Amino acid sequence: MESQKLHAKQFSFEFFPPKTKEGAAKLHATRDELAKLGPKYVSVTFGAGGSTQEGTVETVRAMLAAGLDTAPHLSCIGSTQEAILDLLNTYIELGVKRIVALRGDMPSGMRETGTFHYANELVEFIRAETGDHFHIEVAAYPEFHPQAPSAEADLDNFVRKVTAGADAAITQYFYNIDAYLRFIEECEKRGIDIPIVPGIMPITNIKQLARFSAMCGAEIPRWLLWRLEAYGDDMRSLRAFGLDVTTELSKRLLEAGAPGLHFYTMNQVEPTRIIWTNLGLKKQ
Ligand code: FAD
Repeated sequence: MESQKLHAKQFSFEFFPPKTKEGAAKLHATRDELAKLGPKYVSVTFGAGGSTQEGTVETVRAMLAAGLDTAPHLSCIGSTQEAILDLLNTYIELGVKRIVALRGDMPSGMRETGTFHYANELVEFIRAETGDHFHIEVAAYPEFHPQAPSAEADLDNFVRKVTAGADAAITQYFYNIDAYLRFIEECEKRGIDIPIVPGIMPITNIKQLARFSAMCGAEIPRWLLWRLEAYGDDMRSLRAFGLDVTTELSKRLLEAGAPGLHFYTMNQVEPTRIIWTNLGLKKQ
């Protein structure tokens, strides 16, 4: 973890673009509450769960208007160089300085037709077109990406993104701290020393968590799943237990030298605020 201990700790919050008027009102309220905690920056997802490019740009505008340093996620699969460049120029005009560069996933049933195939190509393109304007974050997978042919190949592919010009990485969420520690060790062996910030998914709902985890390849350890299932319909107790577990994970990560935390807020105030408060974190 030596490479990670050298970095200042940074704390960030991730939001997704709302699809309805009610969702937009809820997100604004959430944004206002979580902004009080003083994160280093916030990020806004792109394309995930069927959200649109316009939804991301609009949400980014709203976050910037509230004075938050905002990083749009940008996924490249199925897109063209022209479309990506348009979007990069829009973000430059808006004053965006940080971007989360991703491959993304093709919607099921659609064939891949775009210019880019992998995130490293997008990082290269952003650097070639915009130089050092953007601080580029990429995704990392301590439990490995579900489509990777092997752990080794996935690590090599992560290195490609860093070599292409990524400044930092945010991980997929995980509940097994050893997966992260081992991932960092493997990165260090490969000469990677950029900050690799753990993504934290607060546990509040077992069905939703199981569905996401099946999709993204994050493992819910057996002991945790059984404990969560034992709460049945008692959502209050499940949530209290889930947030305790997530707080403990976050605490251990920071103690081990993780360079901050990136919270998947799911556009909700309380789970992130509770963990933040439990950890005694301060404004950035
Ligand atoms: P890549 O790094 O390109 O990797 C994808 C797969 O291809 C891996 O298996 C890798 O080993 C392999 N690979 C990579 N490069 C090469 C290469 N050059 N040659 C051969 N194989 C290669 N999805 C969204 O739709 N919208 C979002 O906003 C979003 N935000 C995310 C934020 C974070 C922090 C994370 C961790 C994930 C996010 N995702 C999002 C999900 C992400 O888009 C998916 O996990 C996607 O399947 C992979 O994207 P990537 O950028 O990690 O891809």
